[in-house]
Amino acid sequence: MASVRDLLRAGPDGSPLLPRIDPLGHPGIGGRRDAIRELEAAALRLASLQDRLYAEHTRAVLVVLQGMDTSGKSGAVKHVFRGVNPAGLSVTAFKQPTEEERAHHFLWRIEQHLPGQGHIAIFDRSHYEDVIVVRVHGLVPEEEWRGRYEEIVEFERRVAAGGTAVVKVYLHLSFEEQRRRLLARLEDPDKHWKFNEADIQERARWPEYMAAYEDAIARCHTDESPWYIVPADRKWYRNWAVERLVVETLEDLDPHYPRPPLDVEALQARLAPPN
Ligand code: AMP
Ligand code: MG
Repeated sequence: MASVRDLLRAGPDGSPLLPRIDPLGHPGIGGRRDAIRELEAAALRLASLQDRLYAEHTRAVLVVLQGMDTSGKSGAVKHVFRGVNPAGLSVTAFKQPTEEERAHHFLWRIEQHLPGQGHIAIFDRSHYEDVIVVRVHGLVPEEEWRGRYEEIVEFERRVAAGGTAVVKVYLHLSFEEQRRRLLARLEDPDKHWKFNEADIQERARWPEYMAAYEDAIARCHTDESPWYIVPADRKWYRNWAVERLVVETLEDLDPHYPRPPLDVEALQARLAPPN
């Protein structure tokens, strides 16, 4: 099977990347039916790999999910990790920084949620907001956010060098599909809690967001910490692709159950019932 990481890896060459990728595309899989069937098998595979990662307790995985509102970041978390032992998983949704967070370096709050040995951490939004929403809204001066690309590259290099595999995913949603999803939220009263009027204002800045994503992906795409662009207009594709990216990353790590030198016979003898 072709590596989905190779199919979806961002290949920045100086020219705009996102307009070349179809949000309706489905590289690597024929269609919905196949994707849903494969997702089941991959979920089992992921559970078993995560079990070994946890037991091995030396490496870790960080999954960074970025994308516009309604692109399916939380949906991907729900579907991709549903079979994984929650004890080895953490999910952090990064919102607008609190006052305390704003008083620190932008990476301060991020560091606190990095995965410990044996763990998988998922970031629903991340330090990339500090070069995306912050840039679109001019929340800090340009020279400051421009300097952050290099800081992010350095930071991620350090994380990777410490034994954490970093998987960065941009969920590539179309402007039109976002409109449909926002309308769908309005049509279903059970989804009204998800509706945020501010999303409509953000949507009006779509071109600025795309420019900010384009730069963030191009400038922070490294061998140790590559970006993957997942077409996200179809939920079945998004789920399938994110699952595959995570499974391939774990297969590369190939974690093993530790084999401590136990004297099994002696221990069994000590557990023998009293007679
Ligand atoms: P949501 O993910 O829809 O719940 O919204 C979270 C909001 O927090 C989004 O509008 C983000 O852009 C915003 N946010 C996340 N990180 C930052 C940040 N570092 N600075 C400003 N806004 C942020
Ligand atoms: Mg939102």
